[in-house]
Amino acid sequence: MANNEDLFKKITSHAKEYGFIFPSSEIYDGLGAVYDYAQNGVELKNNIKQYWWKSMTQMHDNIVGIDSAIFMHPKIWKASGHVDAFNDPLIDNKDSKKRYRADVLIEDYIAKLEDKVNKEVEKARKRFKDSFNEEQFLSTSQRVIEYNKEKEDVHNRYSKLMNDNDLAGLKSLIEELGIVCPISGTRNWTDVRQFNLMFSTKVGSVSDDSDVLYLRPETAQGIFVNYLNVQKTGRMKIPFGIAQIGKAFRNEIVARQFIFRMREFEQMEMEFFVRPTTEMKWFEYWKEERMNWHKSLGIPQEKYRFHDHEKLAHYANAATDIEFEFPFGFKELEGIHSRTDFDLKRHQEFSGKKIQYFDSETNESYTPYCVETSIGLDRTFLAIFSYAYKEEQLSDGSSRVVLNLPNILAPNKVSILPLVNKDGLPEKAHAIMDDVRKDFKAHYEEKDTIGKRYRRQDAIGTPFCVTVDNDTLKDNTVTIRSRSTMEQERIPIDNVKQYLRDNL
Ligand code: ATP
Repeated sequence: MANNEDLFKKITSHAKEYGFIFPSSEIYDGLGAVYDYAQNGVELKNNIKQYWWKSMTQMHDNIVGIDSAIFMHPKIWKASGHVDAFNDPLIDNKDSKKRYRADVLIEDYIAKLEDKVNKEVEKARKRFKDSFNEEQFLSTSQRVIEYNKEKEDVHNRYSKLMNDNDLAGLKSLIEELGIVCPISGTRNWTDVRQFNLMFSTKVGSVSDDSDVLYLRPETAQGIFVNYLNVQKTGRMKIPFGIAQIGKAFRNEIVARQFIFRMREFEQMEMEFFVRPTTEMKWFEYWKEERMNWHKSLGIPQEKYRFHDHEKLAHYANAATDIEFEFPFGFKELEGIHSRTDFDLKRHQEFSGKKIQYFDSETNESYTPYCVETSIGLDRTFLAIFSYAYKEEQLSDGSSRVVLNLPNILAPNKVSILPLVNKDGLPEKAHAIMDDVRKDFKAHYEEKDTIGKRYRRQDAIGTPFCVTVDNDTLKDNTVTIRSRSTMEQERIPIDNVKQYLRDNL
């Protein structure tokens, strides 16, 4: 665990040092849980967006995209249930004045029990070496059995309290488990209260309650309220989907783990409208389709897993998360939900507009059911970035940090480097740059030794470097170096673009 914490720290400082992510408002000491994407970060983020957008709208002939406004009619959030139910249970420590999510305090307690079990297993593995049988150990070690039993008890009680919305019960459980505030070390807790996660603001100059607007906490509602418009103007036939990428805002109580949990973030969501009774088939289809999308990025399958929801949200009849193994453990990256006809029905009720589909195949009208895929763009960035980060020991005794990003996502595809900053090499390199940049995002640099420049490009994840040297002037060839293998080849300048096309 300590190692992973170290690794995560390295990843976050790498993101800053190499121009991927900066803390927001840093010269004013930052703003909690808000981050800015820097010169390389924005390229990587845009490439992820493109990759998702194309996979949805270009590779499926029945999915179209929209870009709805962040501000929406306030009644929408009444209809969706967010005004009444988009809450987290919060608790304060009276001594440190720090605020926590009551559910997270209990989940952390459960995670500690899990850690204890893992530690016992590791100890035993070392002790018994080759003869170690994990299954047998788990079922016979008294200590492990006790830890696991406690874990299960706490988990069951906690799940029931959350299901019943029993705030007093949550507080009692925190007290009973002896959970202390990590800052003050005391158990001096306030009562647990519900806290609505939506940010609100006022529109116009009159400050009156009716003018309250919310910053959308999810992009999905922008899709639901445009269902009729898109279906009609796009002459869409069920089943069909509407995709959207956009900002969402949540007043997260505890924001931590870098860009994993932010107060302003981006979502990539797709709502797929289907005939009632077929939703489970589509739910399975989208589970598989989305997992394949993740795998297509070249990250091994074992870094992902499905986690089915035990407790379903009020609008869902099936739900699963795709979890990714971040440096701090497996956590939700994407949610796939079968949302029934809840949202469209509620908007029909609250708006008074009929939202129905006439199915010419079955000759009937109905409110479509909906399967949603909802992925956090920033979390995807973090997953890809942290997996790509590698520290490598090289055969010559030196080391390097390399970002093994999938080529399609790399901020720059190629860097053009004159070996020295004289003798006509920069001019030659500029000519190559001007040609290559028409087809590929390219980068040019002439400062520092070539070795340092290679290392910088490795650290940013640039797949190829093209070096112009004195021989180039004589025979019009350049050296092309691969980031992943560090191998170099000599090729004619005329072949550079074709080489990149073939290898990217
Ligand atoms: P969590 O349980 O981690 O709070 P959630 O279940 O509330 O997430 P959803 O409402 O399903 O999340 O949102 C869909 C996706 O949006 C999530 O899978 C996640 O990738 C992303 N997301 C949600 N909240 C945040 C946040 N505060 N910061 C960054 N990404 C987020």
